[in-house]
Amino acid sequence: MGTAYLYSKHVPHIEMKTIAESDVEAEQQRVRTANARSEKELQKILAFAEQKLGSQSAKIFEAQIMILNDTILMGSIEKRIAKELKNAEYIVGDEINKYKRMMLASPDEYMHERARDVEDVMHRIVRNIQDQKLFSRLEGASIIVSESLLATDTVIFSRNQILGYAADLGGVTSHAAILSRSLRIPAVLGLRNVTKNVRTGDSVAIDGYAGTIAINPNAQTIEQLEKKAERLKAFEEQLTAFAPLVADTPDHKHIELSANIEVPEEVDYARAQGAAGIGLYRTEGTLLARQGDPSEEEQYEEYKKVAEATFPHPVIFRTFDIGGDKLAPGEYHEENPFLGWRGIRVSLDRPEMFLTQLRALLRASTKKNVRIMFPMIAKVSEVRRAKEFLKLAKNELKARGLHFDARIKIGVMIEVPSAAIMAEEIAAEVDFLSIGSNDLIQYLLAVDRDNAAVAPLYQQFNPAVLRTIKAVIDAGHRKNIWVGMCGEMGGDPIATILLVGMGIDELSVVPTVLPEIKKIIRTIKYKDAVRIADKVLTLHTEDEIREYLASVIKKQLPDIPLED
Ligand code: PEP
Ligand code: MG
Repeated sequence: MGTAYLYSKHVPHIEMKTIAESDVEAEQQRVRTANARSEKELQKILAFAEQKLGSQSAKIFEAQIMILNDTILMGSIEKRIAKELKNAEYIVGDEINKYKRMMLASPDEYMHERARDVEDVMHRIVRNIQDQKLFSRLEGASIIVSESLLATDTVIFSRNQILGYAADLGGVTSHAAILSRSLRIPAVLGLRNVTKNVRTGDSVAIDGYAGTIAINPNAQTIEQLEKKAERLKAFEEQLTAFAPLVADTPDHKHIELSANIEVPEEVDYARAQGAAGIGLYRTEGTLLARQGDPSEEEQYEEYKKVAEATFPHPVIFRTFDIGGDKLAPGEYHEENPFLGWRGIRVSLDRPEMFLTQLRALLRASTKKNVRIMFPMIAKVSEVRRAKEFLKLAKNELKARGLHFDARIKIGVMIEVPSAAIMAEEIAAEVDFLSIGSNDLIQYLLAVDRDNAAVAPLYQQFNPAVLRTIKAVIDAGHRKNIWVGMCGEMGGDPIATILLVGMGIDELSVVPTVLPEIKKIIRTIKYKDAVRIADKVLTLHTEDEIREYLASVIKKQLPDIPLED
């Protein structure tokens, strides 16, 4: 519960106005004031980004500050105001856009990226000239209400005083949602029109469990929500007892229960929550808010830190999954990024980037607890090509006399329907499979995982999804390899019994839900889970399946909080 802050990323509107000669000095002063304010804001963001993402990643903000300090540019803006008698924001926009156009005209992709920074700075100055509020001037504890939320926003916003997020767009599996879950910030996305109904300063309450938001709630609602929060807190505290225990069913079926993370700092929290290892390390987190590809050395340092912190448990590093709703891999616009240049496709097309990452991962594997996983695999030939790259990277390291785990285990994400259909043939090529339910569901059901308009159609308990998951597990087992799940479904308490019953060997989940999932595994007998899963697989609609699973949980695990 807290005070709303309406965060608008809207591009500021710039009008051209003619000014009187007597206003020139005041107009120039507006630019200077806005410039100074912008710099102060950027310094704050820079300091925060350095602390959160490391100095390398924070460089983008340094570059933005340099633009503000460019005396030639600022001098020419002031001169033009005096000469052309036009308003400050118009001249600032026009002058800085010149730079932007020059950069966009360059064939160099790096310059295109820089053009975005230049535009960002221009918007910042203009907003400050127009005296519009910016998030970086946010003070006190707030709930951010915005149209959409990007992964980078989540990182930059994630200061202590952010109490929650509410956004018009997005869904549970959008990258920003996953990130805020792991940062333990409540978020409700896909509310469609929350920005129209909430004003800055409104009191709001976010219920991340129910996916609802109460605007200016009355005393009764507040009391209800406070009670619910207390109940959930007590439940969570009770769960901490599960952290040191193994995730075995009462009839001794072991489930490897591990955590999904994306920055090294999360390892300790995941361990404290009782993770057996790291089942998904999203390496593309390193690429957030940075320019150019990270060097082998930088990546090696990061991966080594994670591998050492996780040791003796295993850590599965997934190679860069760029594209989709994450980072755009290039400047050119894709109509359908989720069906575009994404994941392994980018890596295979950029041998230098891929080999650099593989070398860094191999070098971090000397303790033999590192595994490598490839995202967005759609066919066997991609697995083979990725393996060839791995061989090449190994040879390069051998030639340099460096050590690595020569028998490093490799796996594939099963998240594209064609890979699910060919799971057995893919399994024959690798050491493990991990089902990426977030993408598998969207591609299988043709429902964008981020699109709130079709959110009700994004059904993880759709029978087609469940049969596919079952087929993938069976295919892996026929080839004697283990099959896990690292999508959000693996961390949904309603799905746990079903997945265990279908034979899943590993679940990799957001650290926050780990103890709850462990409690469920330790409560239900494997043989009962198999019976429940068999029954579910005979049902024909998601509603029937949800209803049945909820009734099982209510009966067997009455204290698990379920939402309708
Ligand atoms: C998935 O698709 O289920 C997955 C774990 O990968 P991501 O959410 O990073 O796309
Ligand atoms: Mg995925």
